[in-house]
Amino acid sequence: MEFEPVIGLEVHAQLLTASKMFCGCSADYAGAPPNTHVCPVCLGMPGSLPVINRAAVEYTILTALAFHCAIPEFAKFDRKNYHYPDLMKGYQISQYDLPLSRDGYVVIDDAGATKRIGIRRVHLEEDTAKLFHADGASLIDVNRAGVPLMEIVSEPEMHSVEEARLYSIKLRQILRYLGVCSGDMEKGAMRFEANISLRPKGSRDLSQTRVEIKNLNSLRAMVHATEFEIARQTKILNAGGRVEQETMGWDEARNTTYTQRSKEEAHDYRYFPEPDLPRLQIARDWVAELGARLPELPDEKRERLISALGLSAYDASVITAEREVAAYYDRAVEAGKARGVDAKAIANWVTGELFRLMKETNAEIGAVKIAPEQIPDLPALVSAGTISNTIAKNVFEEMFKSGQDARAIIAAKGLAQISDRGALQAIVEKVLAENPKPVAEYLGGKETIARFLVGQVMKATKGQANPGMVNELVAEALSKMK
Ligand code: ADP
Ligand code: MG
Ligand code: ZN
Repeated sequence: MEFEPVIGLEVHAQLLTASKMFCGCSADYAGAPPNTHVCPVCLGMPGSLPVINRAAVEYTILTALAFHCAIPEFAKFDRKNYHYPDLMKGYQISQYDLPLSRDGYVVIDDAGATKRIGIRRVHLEEDTAKLFHADGASLIDVNRAGVPLMEIVSEPEMHSVEEARLYSIKLRQILRYLGVCSGDMEKGAMRFEANISLRPKGSRDLSQTRVEIKNLNSLRAMVHATEFEIARQTKILNAGGRVEQETMGWDEARNTTYTQRSKEEAHDYRYFPEPDLPRLQIARDWVAELGARLPELPDEKRERLISALGLSAYDASVITAEREVAAYYDRAVEAGKARGVDAKAIANWVTGELFRLMKETNAEIGAVKIAPEQIPDLPALVSAGTISNTIAKNVFEEMFKSGQDARAIIAAKGLAQISDRGALQAIVEKVLAENPKPVAEYLGGKETIARFLVGQVMKATKGQANPGMVNELVAEALSKMK
C-alpha cells in the first residue's frame, strides 16, 4: 500500500524582549557567564512571585495576527507540572485551554503552488534552564530559565518533508520580519518538535498513531529526523506491523531517532490555572493597535515587487527573504525613481553584484558600505554611456570596498568610457595595422573575425571604449579596405 505522511510541527521561538517572562532579569543571556542572569523568581525560590512581561504578550499577539489568528477576549496561564533538573520550579508556566490566540494559517509556496497550513494556536510560556554533562557530572546554567518562549502549533496539514521545511522557513522569515525572534537556531532561539503519522494515500483520516520527535534544534535536524521517521514507519506498516505511540529524541551524530517515552510512560502534566497570575483580558482596541503595527510582511512585499515593480518571481523572492534587504532595495528604488532608473535595473545590481560580494566577504546587509541611495548611480551611468557594464562592475567592487561614490571612483581612476569618435578611430586604425593576419583573413571572406578585432580594440582601451562605437568603427574601417 502507498502511504502519505501527516506532519504537524510545534515550533518554540525565544522572544527578543529586554527582560524575562516573569521577572526583571535580562533575557539577553548569550555569552554571559553561567548563572549571572538570575533572581529568586527565575531560580524558582519558594515565596517569589511572577509578574507578566507585557512586551512578551504583545509580541505573541503581533505574531498571531501575522498568522491571521483569532485573539480571544480572555487568556490565562497554567502550570504544566513535571520534574526535570532543568525545570527550576517543578512546573513550567504555560498556557493550556485559554491561549493568547488560535485558528490561523500561514501560506507556503511549494515550487509555485501555494498552500495554506493551518496554525492551531500561538501561545506563551517560559524557557527552561540548561544542563551540561561533562566528566561524569551534570552542571546547570539558569540564565535561560524564564526567557519568554512562544510556541506555534500547526495543524497536521503538511504531507511531505518539503512542506514541513518550507513551513519552518516561512515561520522564521515572518518572525524575523516582525522582529520578535532572532531565528538564530545555532543559539537555540528556534527549536522544533515534529509529529508524524502515516495514512493510506488519499485517506482523510487523522486518527493514525503518531510519533513525536522532540529537541530538533535546527532546520536540518527537523528535516533529517522527519525523513528518518517516515521511512521507519513505512517499513513497519509494509511489514504488517503497528506503529507505537511514543515520544522520541533525535540523535544527530548517529542520524537516528530513539525512544524517550512510550505511551504507558506518557506524561500527565496535571495542568491547572496558575494561581499567582491574573487572567488576562485582551482589550479589543489593544488588538487593533497591534494590528496597525504589523509591517508589510514577506508575501505582500513579494507580491508588490512582482506586480507594481515588474520583478521576476525569483528576484522578488530573494530580495524579500530578509526584511533588511527588502528595506535596502526599497530605498534604492525610491532614490532611483527621481532619476528615472528602473526598479528592475536596481534589482539586477542587488541580486547580482551586491549579493555576490556580500557572499564573498561574508557580510550582512547592515555592514554593506554602499548606501542604497548610491545603487541607482550604476545603471544611470551605464545608460548615459559614461561607463560600460563591465567597468561598472569594477566600480561597484570599489564602492563595496570603500563606500565611495561611483563618480568619484570613475574620476580618480580615469575609467570614464571613451566615446570620442576621433580618438577611437585612431586606436582602431592602430589595432588593424598591428593585426595584418586577421585583417587578411577578414578580407579573404572570414567575416566573423571582425569580432576578434573589436575585442583587441576594447583591450587596448582597457575596456573603456564605447563598445557600440567600436563595432561601428571597425566595420567601417574594414569595409573601406575591401
Ligand atoms: P497534544 O494535545 O496531545 O499535544 P495535539 O492534538 O494538540 O496533541 O497536537 C500536537 C501536534 O500534533 C500538533 O502540531 C498537531 O498538528 C500534530 N498532530 C495531530 N494529529 C496528528 C496526526 N494524526 N499526525 C501527525 N501529527 C498530528
Ligand atoms: Mg508537544
Ligand atoms: Zn530572574
